[in-house]
Amino acid sequence: MRKLDISKLDVLALMRYDACTRCGECTATCPTGGEAQDVELVTPRGKILRLREFYRAQYGLKAKLLGPRMIPDDQLKELAGRSYECTICGQCKTVCPAHLDTIEMWENMREFFVANGLGPLPAHESIVKSIENYDNPWMQPRTQRTRWSKRIEKEVKIKDVLKEHAEVLYFVGCTATYDPNIKEMAVNSAKVLGAAKIDFGTLGNEEGCCGSTLLRTGLLDSGRKTALRNIERFEKAAPSIMVASCAGCYKTIRQDYPRIGKVGARMVHITQFVNELVSTGKIKLAKRVNGTVTYHDPCHLGRHNHLYDEPRKILEAIPGIRVVEMERTREESRCCGAGGGVKTAFPELAEKIASLRVADAEGTGADMLVTSCPFCYQSLKAAIETKGSKLRMMDLMELLAASCTE
Ligand code: SF4
Ligand code: SF4
Repeated sequence: MRKLDISKLDVLALMRYDACTRCGECTATCPTGGEAQDVELVTPRGKILRLREFYRAQYGLKAKLLGPRMIPDDQLKELAGRSYECTICGQCKTVCPAHLDTIEMWENMREFFVANGLGPLPAHESIVKSIENYDNPWMQPRTQRTRWSKRIEKEVKIKDVLKEHAEVLYFVGCTATYDPNIKEMAVNSAKVLGAAKIDFGTLGNEEGCCGSTLLRTGLLDSGRKTALRNIERFEKAAPSIMVASCAGCYKTIRQDYPRIGKVGARMVHITQFVNELVSTGKIKLAKRVNGTVTYHDPCHLGRHNHLYDEPRKILEAIPGIRVVEMERTREESRCCGAGGGVKTAFPELAEKIASLRVADAEGTGADMLVTSCPFCYQSLKAAIETKGSKLRMMDLMELLAASCTE
């Protein structure tokens, strides 16, 4: 039994919990709720109603008149655990008729559980420690950050922006930097920027984790420290524009960093930046890349940032590419299952959701499934392999590089 510390539930969040009409629209589309329909507590409505019940029991009018009711620890732990069975995909926000910003609510709910010693989950601890100790979630040495670029250093000029000024700062992100299966994403992004003769560079070994995992799992204090370290480096580099190829880094730097410190340069995702280059003819798409592709909208680009058109415009501009849409697309796009720390803490749930997304893609008859986020890429590729699907997983920059480079 315990008295809850609600100091971390911000006023806006409390108003949002109170504003939920219990209509249940959100429960039908929630990817994790859909996989556990017998457990109401996993659904957006279930989490809201239970947390509302808990804080009203201690801080509501009845509690003021009759005294607060203590909440049993097991009930609190159950809700805390369930709150992490959410990919923060934002589907519930899209359908909520009361226009509740559920994305903010889930992150704030986790912050509340962390403040009460109930979060994050033990499975998240190694990632958190790795970010604190190595500045990346994959326990990789800082000195290896630029290793991905060695293969193309003769072909593309990539500056170290802390030593030499560049107009564009390419924020590579930890996953494309270190994961051997994903580093092609960084290589191809750099090749495309090089093909357009962009004056660009990276923070080299000084680039740090963007802090997305920390912020998404409720560890705001650690997330802020991580963000501030990067902001300091951005200030030193003083680029005109910053480009991220990771959807998670893009969301974090664009939406979270300005609440933490001053980010001088404009932050764009590589699909926005490159779409501009393609549409103004600065990138010549000379080679055909034959195939039928379907595009998976990463939640952090789509529902979180309304960035739907640019990736599709790039795909349509590549000669030989035919784009077909999945039934659930754009705002209604199914999540890949990896976000919000779900892949780390509930890998089987993440795999089930990814497998459903691969089935969506198979239904289009496409031969390639394309995305523009390393986490979506990782998850969907694994699901393709597990299912024995004929689909080929592709990063958008890989297709583009095949069309615009030698
Ligand atoms: S953000 Fe996505 S996974 Fe989380 S509760 Fe909403 S719909 Fe479900
Ligand atoms: S859709 Fe919105 S109002 Fe309806 S139950 Fe879900 S969160 Fe509450």
